[in-house]
Amino acid sequence: MKIIDISLPLNNSTPVYPGNIPLSISIHHAMPEYATQLSSITLGSHTGTHIDAPAHAVAGALTLDKIPLSNFIGPCWVLDFSKEDGNKSVTKEMLENKLKDKNIEKGERILLKTKNSLRGFKEFYDDYVYLDGDAADYLGSLSVLLVGIDALSIKARGGSDHRPHTSLLAKNIPIVEGLDLVSVKEGKYELVCLPLNFTDIDGAPARAVLIIP
Ligand SMILES: [Zn+2]
Repeated sequence: MKIIDISLPLNNSTPVYPGNIPLSISIHHAMPEYATQLSSITLGSHTGTHIDAPAHAVAGALTLDKIPLSNFIGPCWVLDFSKEDGNKSVTKEMLENKLKDKNIEKGERILLKTKNSLRGFKEFYDDYVYLDGDAADYLGSLSVLLVGIDALSIKARGGSDHRPHTSLLAKNIPIVEGLDLVSVKEGKYELVCLPLNFTDIDGAPARAVLIIP
């Protein structure tokens, strides 16, 4: 069994989406008699590799703890759009081209690899590749269990089309943002991507891995 870690490292240099609070980790010395190292962590709910729950973008919708864990574990397609030059977004047409020879079954999960993974995640770039609104509608119609992308947001920076969030989250399809797919080839894998067990919250960091049996 091979395990590929597709989550971003979390430390004081981890970039966050503009407007989110910075990730801050420091040594907390409250109990030196009990522990040699004890850290304090301050972070936003959308830090690093993380899950967006429906409540993030749809008023009154499910919080993260109400999403079944079965959404986050199971068969998964990685679709590679990273070689497609000139595209600012993943479009419905690009998805249809990729999926026409793949038998996507109800209950699968889709991860989108773009040029974002090739550029890396050491800093935040405004011009990241995102998911187009029509493409989000299309993925929502496929009854997938989860959609992931290698950007800190699935929608365009400052964009007014909110469907990349709402079309998926309104159907209770959680979104994984902040994946690093640089070392992953297109294909089918087993995904494990479990968010931390915060309750009544809009999202939380997750450790995401792909498993090759
Ligand atoms: Zn998010």
